[in-house]
Amino acid sequence: MSLVLTGVPVLVVDGPEAEVAAELLREQGAVPVGWGDVATRIGLVRIPAGTQKTAADEALAWAHRNGIPVDDRRPREEAQEQTQDATTSASMSSAGEVILVGGGPGDPELITVAGAKALAEADVILTDHLGPVDLAEDAAARGAELIDVAKIPYSRQVAQERINELMVERAKEGKKVVRLKGGDPFIFGRGYEEIEACAAAGITVRVIPGVTSMTAGPAAAGISLTHRGLNHDLTLVSGHVPPHSPKSLVDWTALAGMTGTLVLIMAVKNAGAIAGELIDKGRDAATPAVVVENASMPGQRVTSATLATLGETIEREGLGHPAVIVVGDAAGHIAELG
Ligand code: SAH
Repeated sequence: MSLVLTGVPVLVVDGPEAEVAAELLREQGAVPVGWGDVATRIGLVRIPAGTQKTAADEALAWAHRNGIPVDDRRPREEAQEQTQDATTSASMSSAGEVILVGGGPGDPELITVAGAKALAEADVILTDHLGPVDLAEDAAARGAELIDVAKIPYSRQVAQERINELMVERAKEGKKVVRLKGGDPFIFGRGYEEIEACAAAGITVRVIPGVTSMTAGPAAAGISLTHRGLNHDLTLVSGHVPPHSPKSLVDWTALAGMTGTLVLIMAVKNAGAIAGELIDKGRDAATPAVVVENASMPGQRVTSATLATLGETIEREGLGHPAVIVVGDAAGHIAELG
């Protein structure tokens, strides 16, 4: 289990190993908190007034209510005896957590085993419209709360804040919250922002990687992103901002100078402009460019073009979102798949 502990308060329970626990937590950037004599003895940040005189079970209940993880190293029998009600719900694993799950490109079989398990155990699932939405619906059918965050009626920025709030609120209620993402959470998925929001609220976060559309799309189409003797580099670029926009963070000149495989995502709308820019900056206009629409899903369509014809092909064929575009000599080899 990977925990992001930077800046996160963690309750240290008094006992022979409390000092070691506090030291280890500080090394990981966490803020050890505690109560009573132990707080004075090893310099813990005191938990809020009203709980100063607390016994272990009160402190644990406080931690649970606030979604604060607990480092409890007391011998097992002692811990159980003292804190029968509170501890069970306040231990690290059951205090409520958020799991960012990469759901893969859409085919429900392309989620990882760990991802499927997290969905099966989730109390709450936040999903949008890419990835294996059916799996989220299955989980809802067995009683999990399903929140379709694509339906949050705000601007993108505000919607993201609302998503963060919802995850934190539910986790603080002690729930197991799955944030289901299309592909992999760390590829144009705002996964890191969501982790930061959880960490700021003291919520434990795990990440389960996913099969990204960057690789699954070409694979489903029979395109190998690397070919021995053909290319030694592979670049992923988001095309959601066109080349001449002041918002573009891409070095288009450098990109045009590369000879290997280029994968474009979120690029259907700007594909013509992107191809034009690459050609202007020196990439061969005859370079193969293949559009894989709805990869791994019913209705998958694979359409071949070149850089010179990419824009007009997309328009003529009416290709749309979601699609991965593969540019490069590797895209000139499409295997027949069964
Ligand atoms: N985190 C995701 C990407 C999110 S950005 C991942 O790792 O796959 C959204 C873009 O991903 C879409 O605009 C499209 O370019 C691509 N995409 C996602 N699912 C896709 C699919 N099934 N087929 C083709 N492209 C897909």
